[in-house]
Amino acid sequence: MSATQAPESSTGHTSAVSPIETDALIIGAGPAGLFQAFQLGLQGIASHLVDALPHVGGQCAQLYGHKPIYDIPGIPVCTGTELAQLLDRQIAPMQVPRHLSQQIESLRQREDGRWLAQTTAGTAFAARSIFIAAGVGAFVPKALKVPGVDDLRPNQLHYHPLQLDMAIGRSVLVYGGDEEAVSAAIACASPLSCGANTGAGAAKTYLMHRRDAFQAEPGQLARLQQLRDSGAIEVVIGQITEARHAAGQLSAVQWMDGEGNEHPLSVDMLLVFLGISPRLGPISDWGLAIERKQLVVDPATQATSAAGIYAVGDIVTYPGKKKLILCAFHEAAMAAFAAAEYLQGEKPLLQYTTTSAKLHGILGVSHPGAQ
Ligand SMILES: Cc1cc2nc3c(=O)[nH]c(=O)nc-3n(C[C@H](O)[C@H](O)[C@H](O)COP(=O)(O)OP(=O)(O)OC[C@H]3O[C@@H](n4cnc5c(N)ncnc54)[C@H](O)[C@@H]3O)c2cc1C
Repeated sequence: MSATQAPESSTGHTSAVSPIETDALIIGAGPAGLFQAFQLGLQGIASHLVDALPHVGGQCAQLYGHKPIYDIPGIPVCTGTELAQLLDRQIAPMQVPRHLSQQIESLRQREDGRWLAQTTAGTAFAARSIFIAAGVGAFVPKALKVPGVDDLRPNQLHYHPLQLDMAIGRSVLVYGGDEEAVSAAIACASPLSCGANTGAGAAKTYLMHRRDAFQAEPGQLARLQQLRDSGAIEVVIGQITEARHAAGQLSAVQWMDGEGNEHPLSVDMLLVFLGISPRLGPISDWGLAIERKQLVVDPATQATSAAGIYAVGDIVTYPGKKKLILCAFHEAAMAAFAAAEYLQGEKPLLQYTTTSAKLHGILGVSHPGAQ
């Protein structure tokens, strides 16, 4: 299984390593989580960010990266990806460590009051405060559910891999019909993009989809057609019904064509692109007050029903809640002020980034005449 993406059925790890001690842990690096890191930084509170995706930006980057957003205050128009990049740039001075491609799967309180959080990759945190910015849930790849898959040894099945070096010299089946699947198949069949430093590619590349219609940019579709014509990519129209293996070593897949006939196909690596979708997952088991899959918070503080745990963005509900990015930004500021009082024992002063020398220090900027 890929190190970059754990599928929905992943059960996670138990960690023997000591937890990372931090004042604040932010679960989710969508717009709410990113801006939460900024607001905490302004309060002098160091944080860590965790996300199930291999990149920051949440829904903006994952669901509508190339589409325009018109209602971010002060930005007449930007794409989802551009907004994620701007938010990421804004937190650069805070140097927030990020732990991507891993899902927080458990959260419990230690005897000393700290919250112990564990990820599916085995990272553990002992945090004085938690900020749940989990949106509509953790974005995880849809798992391939056919006989034999669960018995495969590691490194033979990868979900939505970002790097393809492991495909060099292998007989690879790319499974899926979207842009990511098409581009992975092209990369496997094009030595220079698959193994950039070696000039090698996959020994054989198959691309399997249930229909002979692929969703990708026209340029990519044209390149796919060229590689099909040259025989570098063999397209198979059908669905996998079984992963065949000997003692966990993948040897072939069984697949079914449109007429219901089954065939074997010899391959030794599977790259699966069945889509990425949000799963609320373990959050509903953490004992927090929840209403219709949303965490109940006090809008004055964004506090949940547990002391030291705050929640912001699409995951929360309160009277009048709107699932808009600008509302998430406001909530992040409210949560940071409340957490500063909780962690530092006194109400923080409201200071302006325009004029406060303290905030300029945090932001790494200097202005003559600052107070
Ligand atoms: C097509 C579309 C267009 C939109 N257009 C607009 C618009 O124009 N203007 C606007 O204001 N809003 C728009 N929205 C809504 C906006 O995208 C959301 O309100 C916003 O993304 C919510 O931000 P968030 O950070 O709360 O959640 P998300 O963006 O969902 O991010 C949450 C992150 O948390 C991660 N996560 C969840 N659980 C865990 C866990 N247990 N461990 C690790 N990571 C976890 C997820 O992987 C995800 O990356 C649009 C939404 C869609 C789908």
